[in-house]
Amino acid sequence: GLLQQGLPPRIKVVVLGDAGVGKSCLALRFSRGTFDPCSRATVGASFLTKSVTLPDGRSTKLEVWDTAGQERYHSLAPLYYRGAQGAVIVYDITSPTSFERAKFWVEELRRGGIDSAVLVLVGNKKDLWEGREVSEEAGQEYADRNRMIFVECSAKTSDNVTEVFESLARAWAGGL
Ligand code: GDP
Repeated sequence: GLLQQGLPPRIKVVVLGDAGVGKSCLALRFSRGTFDPCSRATVGASFLTKSVTLPDGRSTKLEVWDTAGQERYHSLAPLYYRGAQGAVIVYDITSPTSFERAKFWVEELRRGGIDSAVLVLVGNKKDLWEGREVSEEAGQEYADRNRMIFVECSAKTSDNVTEVFESLARAWAGGL
């Protein structure tokens, strides 16, 4: 039917954000259900995949691309995010600097012309709420203003991690 056409069989998702915000941990937690505190060294693949089934029974395969640390050295090649149907832009709720970097990435993506992608703004390390320095309101407000989905999660405890990726798939399926 018509609805079926909205959800592609595969969705390429790029994960962006400052070094240390938990991008690798988030990708690993989602795709393998594990948390390795020193994850960077163990991924060893350019992307991880996981199938997602929506409440209405339709499913899609998410290809989650990690930057492999490139963000430390230079701005990312547009080649990395070209063709992505989804972008997950991550910051650490204990780091205002990482929130500013996340905003930079959003602008970078828009300049790179991936306007048709679904963008998800993610405040990670929700488990460190005692050291929070970016309010939930600030994240939500920025996301609303930039037509993005907003989710706070913890790759460490797995709290809300599924929601990050499922909300992206739901947006493609035509409903939030
Ligand atoms: P990346 O550079 O953005 O890929 O970040 P990593 O995934 O390598 O994680 C950076 C550091 O943050 C590691 O020491 C992780 O153990 C830690 N980390 C990642 N996610 C979380 C989280 O949700 N909560 C906490 N407390 N630490 C996290």
